[in-house]
Amino acid sequence: MKLSNYINGELVEPVSGRYLDYYEPATAKVLGQLPDSDDQDLELAVRAGAAAFTAWSSQPSSERAAVLNRLADLIDENLERLAEAESANAGKPLSLARAVDIPRSSSNFRFFASACVQFSGQAFDMPDQAINYTLHQPLGVVGCISPWNLPLYLFSWKIAPALAAGNCVVAKPSEITPLTAGLLSELAIEAGMPKGVLNIVHGTGARIGASLVSHPNVKAISFTGGTQTGAHIAAAAAPVFKKLSLELGGKNPSIVFDDANLDLAVSETVRAAFFNQGEVCLCGSRVLIHDSIYEQFTERFVAEVKMLHVGDPAHADTRIGAMVSSAHRDKVLSYIELAREEGGRVLTGGRTASVEGRCKDGWFIEPTVVDSLAMSCRVNQEEIFGPVVTLNSFSDESDAIAQANQSVYGLAASVWSENIGRCHRVAAALEAGLVWVNTWMLRDLRTPFGGAKQSGVGREGGFEAMKFFTETKNVCVKINHD
Ligand code: NAD
Repeated sequence: MKLSNYINGELVEPVSGRYLDYYEPATAKVLGQLPDSDDQDLELAVRAGAAAFTAWSSQPSSERAAVLNRLADLIDENLERLAEAESANAGKPLSLARAVDIPRSSSNFRFFASACVQFSGQAFDMPDQAINYTLHQPLGVVGCISPWNLPLYLFSWKIAPALAAGNCVVAKPSEITPLTAGLLSELAIEAGMPKGVLNIVHGTGARIGASLVSHPNVKAISFTGGTQTGAHIAAAAAPVFKKLSLELGGKNPSIVFDDANLDLAVSETVRAAFFNQGEVCLCGSRVLIHDSIYEQFTERFVAEVKMLHVGDPAHADTRIGAMVSSAHRDKVLSYIELAREEGGRVLTGGRTASVEGRCKDGWFIEPTVVDSLAMSCRVNQEEIFGPVVTLNSFSDESDAIAQANQSVYGLAASVWSENIGRCHRVAAALEAGLVWVNTWMLRDLRTPFGGAKQSGVGREGGFEAMKFFTETKNVCVKINHD
């Protein structure tokens, strides 16, 4: 499918007329073209947003909520079509896109439609002297930039709170997975989104992404992607003091104590490691296991990994789809090679996977488990973002915490133990924005979300996500006693 930009309520070609290809990772074939937008397209989108801002921000919040709810309804009505598009373009199992990506996208819009009508300021009474109150005022035109791993889900996670708070949005999806954002443009028109309120410009990070970050009339940037890109964006935004939310990479530990429910811990740490081919920022890519159960746990873990079926993402029994691009496949393979060079023992996997039929040229990798690597090795320190997990042992609670925290990242962690006191102690000691206890990837959209250390800046979620897209003003009114 040839995609268009969505600017001022219309589907339009890029001014330059230039397009790029996007692919189907499972077949390595071109799936369609996306606009290779540049400054000229951005200017049109920012102007459209600025022109729409007064009307959008000043209407009753219930009217903004109605538009967001209509969009959510349309996503639900088009679930199958969107799931097929997401699976084809991102290489992920169709079952996953159907159960997670698309339903989560509509729930993002629905959640912020509801939050929008509850959102309020505070009052601070100074008896007999004054009353203070806060106003959370929308910023104007804001920018949202998202990655390829959960394309529509993360795109909507940024757009929905920005719109709910009364801003107009210029959003840029990943150039690797633009298809569902292209379909969202059509649904936004059908939902009656007022012209200019939501604008979607396609293209590369280096060209349109960088321009969006530096545009003087774009008041905030909400970015999800790699830590290196985040650093680049932070450097570009700092001199103009642009508001920034950065959701970045991770190297998350799953910590299994000797008193854990082993059936649950094995199956859930396997799921945490290989969900979406390991291409989720929250994936547990370092499993730390108490040394008294190391052998038993490892044997069961490896046995379960061997059962994960790598195959055509469209097939119901496929658990591991294709890597999103040939470049990413090569990057993941280079880390497996590095693991061998660093002295690691590959317990299963370690190669490209061949899938027969229409997927014979696809970018597949076997789910891979490596142990015998020191925590300081590059494979244990750098984000691989693929189906590769390392296993390490620990001697006691403080050793587990020390190894878990031995990382520049601090996004998420999971703790597996039946000892409730230990769970609380370890959760408090972990340097991470999010800790799961005896579960993984369970999310309440009202809770703060985001990483510590080099995993990000800001904790979005619930009203905080809307507040990010506002300027908070305090008004202090003196009580006159005359
Ligand atoms: P990426 O950083 O390469 O790209 C992300 C987005 O930024 C894309 O839309 C890209 O076009 C754009 N971009 C690239 N360079 C830019 C620039 N100079 N200025 C502006 N925009 C630019 O990341 P990716 O490879 O698409 O995604 C994978 C990364 O995202 C992983 O590191 C993963 O951990 C991270 N991620 C984090 C979270 C989270 O919530 N913390 C969620 C998902 C993914």
